Amino acid sequence: MNPVIVVGSFNVDHVWRCAELPAVGATIAGQYATGPGGKGFNQAVAAARAGAPTAFVCALGDDPGGALARGLAAADGIDLRAEASDQPTGTAGIYVDARGLNSIVIGAGANGTLSAAHVAADPALFAGAGVVLAQLESPVEAIEAALTAGREAGATTLLNPAPANASTSIGLLRLADLISPNETEFAALLVRHVGERLEPDAVAALDGASLHGLCRKLLPHGTVVVTLGSVGVFVSHADEQTRGDAQAYYRIGAESVAASDTTGAGDAFNGALAAALARAPQEPFVAHVRYANRFAALSTERPGAAAAMPRHAEVLERFPG
Ligand code: ADP
Repeated sequence: MNPVIVVGSFNVDHVWRCAELPAVGATIAGQYATGPGGKGFNQAVAAARAGAPTAFVCALGDDPGGALARGLAAADGIDLRAEASDQPTGTAGIYVDARGLNSIVIGAGANGTLSAAHVAADPALFAGAGVVLAQLESPVEAIEAALTAGREAGATTLLNPAPANASTSIGLLRLADLISPNETEFAALLVRHVGERLEPDAVAALDGASLHGLCRKLLPHGTVVVTLGSVGVFVSHADEQTRGDAQAYYRIGAESVAASDTTGAGDAFNGALAAALARAPQEPFVAHVRYANRFAALSTERPGAAAAMPRHAEVLERFPG
């Protein structure tokens, strides 16, 4: 099985659960928890647990957060390729209220210093890669370097265009064979690159032909996978490259699970999709999407993000056939 290379962020998440989000000037009490996060790391853990040999390219500070990343990567068998940064390891301060609403502050720290030179430093890493997976929590030049190295090595390039407020360019999107926005990210990309305004809430309700048409405008030559939360997934291929699928566009409904924490569901989906593609590149794409849909559904039954990722055997056991 060819490896998955994930290029992206690692954060130490600091989470306070409180009755209400603090108002300006207020001091309130909350229950504290800490753990690993960052879209890149979450997706690397998902890919590794889905069974792919996985490398994770990131930037870390020389501090306890960096040591945490190294220990956790080793525990999941991830080949960590960390650039030493003079900035502190990335952090996220998260307040969650009793209704589950949150406010988040990201301290990019080391993540903001990941260099294109470090990403492209080892051509041998990319030479055997099956899939290169990146997100938008790293400098644009580093993401470009990752997708370009992947393309040149013949790997499939997958860009998860998250978070929604990160800057993107058409040039960056076109370096991806596949993009995987959620509804909010899809709406943001449409406004920015197609000039179409669509409320995120309206995406799932659109008929297939209309949604497919918008996807085609956004990424004419690639595949767009729109994740729709508890509704499932929509897939849109270019006519010339349907990746072994009989249909150019289709929906897959979400699996029925007892979801209790959907944090990181998108990360679970992306890591699992990359692993499935690397495992069986000749199989129809729909099989990979179905697997990722199952993997992500299972992740919602457990608390946390990276820690909530299930393992390949658990996915097969829960969803046989
Ligand atoms: P993000 O976490 O980026 O917002 P989504 O909310 O779209 O991403 O979720 C990603 C995927 O996780 C969905 O496409 C689906 O496969 C799965 N998923 C999310 N929420 C649920 C749920 N409540 N039940 C089952 N599957 C879910």
